[in-house]
Amino acid sequence: MLSYQHSFHAGNHADVLKHLTLVAVLERLNIKSKPYFFLDTHAGDGVYELSSKQALQNEEAKTGVLKFDLGTQTGEEDDKTTGDLPAFVDSYLNIINKYIVDGQYPGSPVVASALLRKGDNAFAAELHPQAFESLKNNCRRTAIKAQHRDGYEMMNAVLPPTPNRGAVLIDPPYEQSSEYEQVVDAVFRAVKRWPIGIYMIWYPLLSDTREDRKTGEIVNNPKAALSEKMLSQFSGLDVKSVLNIQFCSVKPSAAVGMYGSGMCIINPPWQLENDLKDILAIIQKQLSGDNNQLSKVEWLKTE
Ligand code: SAM
Repeated sequence: MLSYQHSFHAGNHADVLKHLTLVAVLERLNIKSKPYFFLDTHAGDGVYELSSKQALQNEEAKTGVLKFDLGTQTGEEDDKTTGDLPAFVDSYLNIINKYIVDGQYPGSPVVASALLRKGDNAFAAELHPQAFESLKNNCRRTAIKAQHRDGYEMMNAVLPPTPNRGAVLIDPPYEQSSEYEQVVDAVFRAVKRWPIGIYMIWYPLLSDTREDRKTGEIVNNPKAALSEKMLSQFSGLDVKSVLNIQFCSVKPSAAVGMYGSGMCIINPPWQLENDLKDILAIIQKQLSGDNNQLSKVEWLKTE
């Protein structure tokens, strides 16, 4: 059942958190000249039009990327660096700005492709036929090889990868409750095959209650506890360390559904914790997050 379309959500607070974390991890891999492997298991379309009917439905980019001061034309030699932000945040803003000037937002494979070097081995899997067509076109002039394939099946098939260092981004729609278990199973299997890989798993933060669409009644949201359960399962993985970042955009309530999101990073690169703390401080400020204790950077497992 493939009904999810990321075009409704492109550039929202969750994309900003996810893509900043992705850039931080790839920039850490880029410190060494040795090539690396990258796989985006749920790649989406690659590029999104912010003026599309879908994007305009809830204008989610307004609570995310559009809160940054972006959208001005810059020359190659005149990138949008601010001087007082960490270098990887400047990298993210420069990548994004090149699309925002044309009313677009780049998805994860296109963000990643801007950081890949010659010799890096990168793939993006997408199962939805239409999304895959867009992905194929949007990756045409990049170093990412787009595949019309189930991301979980592909991860199992290609790991351990060549080269043997690198990262996997897992960003499913979580439309079905069963998808949380599917992610946990896939990650446990992947870690057995490639225990030294970096795995970045995005997950939603959902309010405990929600409004029933038909009756308007407030009912329990059975999916609300599933992200927390997934995180506790990741803390039991046979790996060196597991790091987690969560950002609350607004207070949890029945009216908002997804009030924030998180990224769990298995085997984070050295000093990524500092990058994640920078990310949290920046998005709290720029996106005016709800400053409660649910926004945090924490170790779920350490050596
Ligand atoms: N990672 C993208 C980004 O950050 O720009 C957004 C991805 S979106 C949240 C999830 C995508 O996964 C959708 O395009 C959906 O069609 C696709 N999808 C769903 N199940 C899949 C599967 N088993 N394998 C590969 N893609 C899948």
